[in-house]
Amino acid sequence: MTTASKPRVRFAPSPTGYLHVGGARTAIFNWLFARHEGGTFILRIEDTDVERNKPELVDGILESLRWLGVDWDEGPVFQSQRLEVYPAAADALLANGSAYLCYCAPEKYAGGDHAEVEEVEEAEEAEGKKPLKKQRCGCRHLDEAGRKAAEAQAAEQGFQPAIRFRVPETGTTAFDDAVFGKREVQNAEIEDFVLLRSPKAGQTARLPTYHLACVVDDIEMRITHVIRGADHLSNTPKQALIYRGLGAAPPVFAHVPLILGPDKTRMSKRHGATSVGSYIEEGFLPEAFRNFLTLLGWSAGDDAQFLRTAELLERFSLAGVSRTNAIFDRPKLEWFNTQYLQKLPVEDLAPHVEAELKRAKIWREVWAGAERDWFLRTIDLTRPRTRLLPDFSTWARGFFSDDFFYDGAAMEKFWKDAKLPALMEKLTAGYAALTEWNHDACDKVLRDLAAAEGIKAGLLINATRVAIVGQAVAPPLFDTMVAIGKERIVARLRRALPAIAAKTSS
Ligand code: GLU
Repeated sequence: MTTASKPRVRFAPSPTGYLHVGGARTAIFNWLFARHEGGTFILRIEDTDVERNKPELVDGILESLRWLGVDWDEGPVFQSQRLEVYPAAADALLANGSAYLCYCAPEKYAGGDHAEVEEVEEAEEAEGKKPLKKQRCGCRHLDEAGRKAAEAQAAEQGFQPAIRFRVPETGTTAFDDAVFGKREVQNAEIEDFVLLRSPKAGQTARLPTYHLACVVDDIEMRITHVIRGADHLSNTPKQALIYRGLGAAPPVFAHVPLILGPDKTRMSKRHGATSVGSYIEEGFLPEAFRNFLTLLGWSAGDDAQFLRTAELLERFSLAGVSRTNAIFDRPKLEWFNTQYLQKLPVEDLAPHVEAELKRAKIWREVWAGAERDWFLRTIDLTRPRTRLLPDFSTWARGFFSDDFFYDGAAMEKFWKDAKLPALMEKLTAGYAALTEWNHDACDKVLRDLAAAEGIKAGLLINATRVAIVGQAVAPPLFDTMVAIGKERIVARLRRALPAIAAKTSS
């Protein structure tokens, strides 16, 4: 394949909201496809809808993409910075008869001015409703005299015409979809959609609608494959008509199935967090999240689930994308996260733990240098009991910081025997006197004391665990003691003595 024939794909979010899981999945599919094929992945920000755009959201969208590891080769290209190119395309469609000027006066529609009506139409369409307006506008049939009169009237009322696509009255518009196969729509069912809005009061730019801007850019960016959510399937016939009107060959379309909640309705806030940002905050691992999302609507052709990035890149193809809507199953996402926490090479997990400890303000630079080995070993020791990254700074806090709390339930359960204060004092003295600090030596001190006192070792083990890490559940005690080190363990035991005395006498 020559460079020229390598695929060029794009992800084109509109900054009207955060990057949600559906958008993230679309971005990942485009990215995997581009990388698998050695093609180019372009990021385009579709921000021509001045009313609904929130420019401040763009940074968050880029950040979420970066977190997912989805990197782009070109862009971000902002449509709002290219506003001059769209009217030219609309004018070209006008000139070759594929479009017409629409002078509809505001009163033709109930309420609002012309541009608002277009927005209502678009919003209704986005929700999958058929716009309420007539399919064909009367302006389509204006002769020159009628057009002049309409123009004069519009000018008098202070608005400029919009440009609408002249959809054929009869016949069908068809396109091939790499996932959904051949799709065909009766032209009579496609309304004369707007290409260029009539400028609102105070606006100078003639703003394109999504359909026009999308097609113009896809042509100019030489996009070969449009991979996007199946919610856009109903837009594609219109876009196919624009391609034809502009005399351009359409790209390959590949619509990917929707993501539904467990009740099989469209994934929404009712089902829990929908933005990628909330999963970042909760402490999911990006690679786990990406693995999980990739399997929403795609499969490798076998039962493979745990697919690290290199494997996804190797195995991804559009042929594996299914038409069946996917269910966002949170327990499965959690399962993936736990798998990644356990299975990632510790060096790959370490940067995430580092970020978490920094966030919790308990990170120490030595762990990146002289004590790197210790840091990696401690991650290995603690990770079997972690589910999310914050577990490293909460549940496993005692491994990294002396500043931790004793868990209330753990104290209730394991610091209640009246003999404990005296026993723990002896145990502390035993550890302070220990010269060799290793698993077996620590084990021996405790068991010898239990035997001498005629008590079960478990009593001391449980009480000690709470004293040294604050938790009832932790990795094996003597491994923990070795990981934390003699000096800190003895200090922690000494610090716990008054608390144990207070607890057992209460
Ligand atoms: N801006 C559109 C969206 O966010 C992009 C649709 C497309 O990929 O063509 O849904």
